[in-house]
Amino acid sequence: MHDFATRLLAWRRRFGRRGLPWQGTRDPYRVWLSEIMLQQTRVATVVPYYERFVARFPTLQRLASARLSQVMPYWSGLGYYARARNLHACARHLVGDHGGKFPRSASELARLPGIGRSTAAAIAAFSRSERAAICDGNVKRVLARYFAIDGDPRASAMERRLSAQAQRLLPPARSMPAYTQAMMDLGATVCLRRAPKCAVCPLQPTCKAFREGRVDELPLRHAARPTPVRKAHLLVAMRDGAVLLQRRPPTGIWGSLLSLPQFASRAQLRSVLAAIGEAHLSTLPERRHAFTHFTLEFTPHLAIIERRRRQTTEAGAVWWPLSRLESAALPAPVRRLLRELHSASTRSATRKRDTML
Ligand code: SF4
Repeated sequence: MHDFATRLLAWRRRFGRRGLPWQGTRDPYRVWLSEIMLQQTRVATVVPYYERFVARFPTLQRLASARLSQVMPYWSGLGYYARARNLHACARHLVGDHGGKFPRSASELARLPGIGRSTAAAIAAFSRSERAAICDGNVKRVLARYFAIDGDPRASAMERRLSAQAQRLLPPARSMPAYTQAMMDLGATVCLRRAPKCAVCPLQPTCKAFREGRVDELPLRHAARPTPVRKAHLLVAMRDGAVLLQRRPPTGIWGSLLSLPQFASRAQLRSVLAAIGEAHLSTLPERRHAFTHFTLEFTPHLAIIERRRRQTTEAGAVWWPLSRLESAALPAPVRRLLRELHSASTRSATRKRDTML
């Protein structure tokens, strides 16, 4: 076995992360779910989402038979909602076309919708001990440093090189689940992007970047491009303890979630509001939400509907009771805003009642 794998496995036995709810399972459904949830998301954030999700959808069949609108509330707040849509589509595809079974090999798994090569390798390694190498961002960073390889890890030539290295380092099949977990643990807890903990790293004696004093410069980073800013106006129309929500289109940001009606301009918002009813309108302070490729600056406009017109709600819109906010599949910043408004209005109602007593 390569020295790299021997050191990593020994380290994992003493220092690897333990007790995560998806560890130790060989069920490809659960491995797949955890891998998708962990993409771009911290472990501590994922744990409660994972537990709720598997409690509600314990099998591939249960997920496939649910409607997307039943699945989205279990992803609400986790971000990158295309993951949930792909997960659901993939479950239906597996049940419809593969007899409800996952393909056995990493190369077949990688052909499924929403499953990239690294996720396919993780599923195959954990569930069948296949010698398939994960090569996500963390692994690429570890290998670029360990072998002191110059180049942008996102460039395809570099990706191929790192992926070939990752494959060469693999231990025998029986050690694949532990080794794959060890690679994940090392990238997440020791060989960090900023301030890696080389002093406690099991690979330090043979790490080329460490030996050459190049840890801080590898992997090569491109100068960050300024993030574009998009502006939007959100309508917070409320009446009788309910708020107007609208289902977002299936693609794009917050796809398939419920959200506040969104407009490009204040004038558009006002004209839609006029069709809903007579309202007392106030503009709230602007808020920001960072997506991967842009920042959304949105201005919420609170409209307390005093008299409602008949033909108010468009297709996909619903008056949602504020008391049931927690069960709505909402984007995290919208949920935060509505929670704040709801608790402010509850406090003010309580104050009014106390004054009258
Ligand atoms: Fe990463 Fe440092 Fe370990 Fe090298 S010695 S693999 S740079 S943590």
